[in-house]
Amino acid sequence: MTFLSLGLSPSLLEAVAEQGYDTPSPIQAKAIPAVMEGKDVMAAAQTGTGKTAAFTLPILHRLLQGAPAKGNQVRVLVLTPTRELAAQVHENVKTYSKHTKLRSAVVFGGVKINPQMQALRGGVDVLVATPGRLLDLYNQNALKFNQLEVLVLDEADRMLDMGFIHDIKKIIRVLPKVRQNLMFSATFSNDIRALAKGLINNPVEIEVAPRNTTANKIEQFIYEVDKNQKSALLTHLIKHHQWQQVLVFMRTKHGANRLVKQLLARGISASAIHGNKSQAARTKALAEFKNGEIKILVATDIAARGIDIDQLPHVVNYELPHVSEDYVHRIGRTGRAGASGEAISLVCADEMKELKGIERLIQQVLPRKKLPGFEPIHGIPESNLDSRAIKPKKPKKPRVDHRDGQRSGDNAQGHNPKPNSNPRRRKPKPAGTGDAARKAQASGNRRGQS
Ligand code: AMP
Repeated sequence: MTFLSLGLSPSLLEAVAEQGYDTPSPIQAKAIPAVMEGKDVMAAAQTGTGKTAAFTLPILHRLLQGAPAKGNQVRVLVLTPTRELAAQVHENVKTYSKHTKLRSAVVFGGVKINPQMQALRGGVDVLVATPGRLLDLYNQNALKFNQLEVLVLDEADRMLDMGFIHDIKKIIRVLPKVRQNLMFSATFSNDIRALAKGLINNPVEIEVAPRNTTANKIEQFIYEVDKNQKSALLTHLIKHHQWQQVLVFMRTKHGANRLVKQLLARGISASAIHGNKSQAARTKALAEFKNGEIKILVATDIAARGIDIDQLPHVVNYELPHVSEDYVHRIGRTGRAGASGEAISLVCADEMKELKGIERLIQQVLPRKKLPGFEPIHGIPESNLDSRAIKPKKPKKPRVDHRDGQRSGDNAQGHNPKPNSNPRRRKPKPAGTGDAARKAQASGNRRGQS
């Protein structure tokens, strides 16, 4: 199959050719014809599968047929969980529409709203948005949906995980009833199916292998090491192997800052991205990491979500994530698109619970290594693979996410967040719904383990 045979407009084919794509990826081959036929689509596909082009190209094709957006109107609305993903999807929209007259914009929280209001004044054909800021703009009459033709929910599972369900429902209520709906999600969980019910009509269901199940080119292993030796071990690995581009995952923003300081002190260029960094600081760090100015990017899970960095040679889990699924998302940053990669986890004795959870999820005992000079004093018990099935997630109430030390959501990623400053937002968490409880809710219910 070729892009030409999919019947896309010549202006789109030109942009695709300029990107150097020869053949549609599996998700594109399935989704593009369905979207072009005007069908609702529910697709299980992760970042890295080509999902963005899978919905963007046929949507642009559709938009080329109709009348342009009038003042403050939006013809296609793409909702994403994070500002990073919103910015990336918008980049894709701009890339593929560059030989057309279609107009697009991106809006997210944490930055000034006025420029966004101005950008919407003349109307846009495609608007990419995070849910909170979209509602703010709508409530301030900066947006109208009379011309809306298509709604896309990208990374719908993440939006639910981040507590956006009520915002999404509010948005759907103000959209025209007759529209095309596209939903992309890493998994078709029960929560996702519940959201799809009443939102999506007779969808074409598409599932492509998540890249990590086929990504046997990712070499995964762990270094057993004491907690207080992790920083020295990481430094040794970077210097000894002369690593040039490493994404390091941390659980907390404080940990990320601390590690960056330690690496800088040892002469290794590093920067952190997390929820306390301004959008400008994050964009800068990401750009410098991509162009090789900095070698080590230290990220928390939420900040890293949706970042488009392809084919990283090394991903390091400095700490294992509490939520096992995050491990799969993390290691998916390496070994993309046929390139090989290494996913290395530095594991200490008190991470046994997390290790067991991950090994159960991926149904694989991770190979272990010890580096001479860094052998742990506190040994890590042998792994016994738990092959019991993982129970489906129970529906969750919207909640506060403190994984990144902040409230969840797009606005939560701005600097100086004021907890619950917006009455539209979720209530403050009751005592006992902190990190541990949230994680138990997010993963324990599902796994019924440890
Ligand atoms: P996504 O899953 O949308 O995040 O896309 C992952 C990466 O694949 C992006 O860098 C795209 O530019 C790239 N990509 C998308 N479609 C194709 C294709 N048909 N051939 C090669 N690369 C592609």
